[in-house]
Amino acid sequence: MALEPLATRSDTLKKFLFEDRSVRIESVRIEQAWLAAQAHQQYPAPVTALLGQLVAASTLLAASLKFDGSLLLQLQGDGAIALMVVECRADLSVRATVKMRERPLPESLDAAHAADLQSLLNPGGTAKFIVVLDPPKHTPGRQAYQGIVPLEGDTIAQALEQYMLRSEQLHTRIWLAADALHCTGLLIQRLPLQGGAQQTEIETADESWTRAQHLAQTLTATEMLATPQDTLLHRLFWEETLHVFESKNITWKCSCTQERVADMLRMLGKAEVDDILQEQGKVEVACEFCGLPYVFDALDTEALFHASTVLGSKSVH
Ligand SMILES: [Zn+2]
Repeated sequence: MALEPLATRSDTLKKFLFEDRSVRIESVRIEQAWLAAQAHQQYPAPVTALLGQLVAASTLLAASLKFDGSLLLQLQGDGAIALMVVECRADLSVRATVKMRERPLPESLDAAHAADLQSLLNPGGTAKFIVVLDPPKHTPGRQAYQGIVPLEGDTIAQALEQYMLRSEQLHTRIWLAADALHCTGLLIQRLPLQGGAQQTEIETADESWTRAQHLAQTLTATEMLATPQDTLLHRLFWEETLHVFESKNITWKCSCTQERVADMLRMLGKAEVDDILQEQGKVEVACEFCGLPYVFDALDTEALFHASTVLGSKSVH
């Protein structure tokens, strides 16, 4: 018997359907891409755990929506976390960031596994949960859809379940767990029956949904983090006959470039940039989304404003 190949990486989203097509299952485990996400931005453990859960959730939702653009999940907080945002595109490439306020984290935070959503984001009770569906660029009549609801629930999973029920009228259960090394998630969703379904089909679908929830609700965060994806799925659903769909790869990708940062510096103005240059010998700007640092030396900044002067004089003509 051949040895099982060593798992080199797990950045995979897997999709299944119950045999009677009444329940959808999605499982995600992100490791390499999650490490890449943290290469230039590090947060306290409870914040990392929350961000990881939101990253896992964004891939689960993006994969279940029939949508070609990008999905943004934003938590706007009034606590230690001011903003937590994840963007997941249709190809399941992800970027994410957190903006924190200068204040100590609340005490009595649990270990990384069950970071407290409400105490970090919503001590004042004004936090918002925002979902944006942004159609692909160059779409005719392109208009983003935006849903805003109060941030309710003790976990990101609960907040999302509520949101899915309100906005999509879909019964959805979500389990999320993350630490510095992994983001994991499981989603089960009850699919609407075709119109004119027989009573027996409705009963079978009801039973499937009850069974799926029953199987999945045994999951603990510790188990999700420690268990390889296939092992976990087998442990939960080994008695079910499942339709298996092609699995998808998750990647970490930010759209920042040297050129975009250059545009930002031009907007800041030559005087300001020269000041920084004089003070620090270089201008270092980090991408506000992924934290990647971009460095401009004296020569670079000179070119920056020289080019813009030329462009500016052209536009006068
Ligand atoms: Zn970036």
